[in-house]
Amino acid sequence: MEQFISFIVVLMGAFLFFGIFIAANQSSTNSYSYNPTSQIRNEDPRKLRTDQELLDCMRQMTPIKFEHLTADMFTRFGYDTQAIGGIHDEGIDVIAKKDGITNYIQCKKYVTRKVSLGTLRDFYGAIADHVGTGTGYLITTNIFTNEAKRFANGRRIVLLDKISLLEYVHSAKIEELIPDVEHPIGQNQELCPRCENPLVERHSKHGPFLGCSTFPKCWYRKKI
Ligand SMILES: [Zn+2]
Repeated sequence: MEQFISFIVVLMGAFLFFGIFIAANQSSTNSYSYNPTSQIRNEDPRKLRTDQELLDCMRQMTPIKFEHLTADMFTRFGYDTQAIGGIHDEGIDVIAKKDGITNYIQCKKYVTRKVSLGTLRDFYGAIADHVGTGTGYLITTNIFTNEAKRFANGRRIVLLDKISLLEYVHSAKIEELIPDVEHPIGQNQELCPRCENPLVERHSKHGPFLGCSTFPKCWYRKKI
């Protein structure tokens, strides 16, 4: 009888041992199936995003939040900044002062649209009279047309395209101020043709329609 009990105990011990062995093996297999980068990211999700991910996240920000991010960026460079765009945007989104000189910033948060000559002319028109020795910055999450680049040549305008913007973001160390994408632009997500922010379904007395999510900054709407 004693032998039998010790046999059972040994058997249970063996089961337990193999159980732990298998479990340990499984968990190690599981951990191998994780991308090690994503594991590190879980600890600090905002530090290890690639440039493309940072860009995508910036493109997803609301225009007002992106203006504030731009203001924060210039603050880190030692400017006194003020985000003034909001919904009453008349060409200038952020004012950045340093050493008694005022600089003017406009933000174009585009995904596929290029910043056009027309946009640049309007911006220059808004600042030309008072830019003085300051600089006008046109900042985009995409790129500029060649005509726009030519127009900026020889004028007190600095164009920051997506590549330059990322360089500024890194040197200002504001990566952690860029929120993670909450609702990635899906392939089916329709974007406003005027400002490239997502369109959302709204209702009026005439029925449902798609309107720009940045309303009242952008008044684009279309029938469904
Ligand atoms: Zn719009």
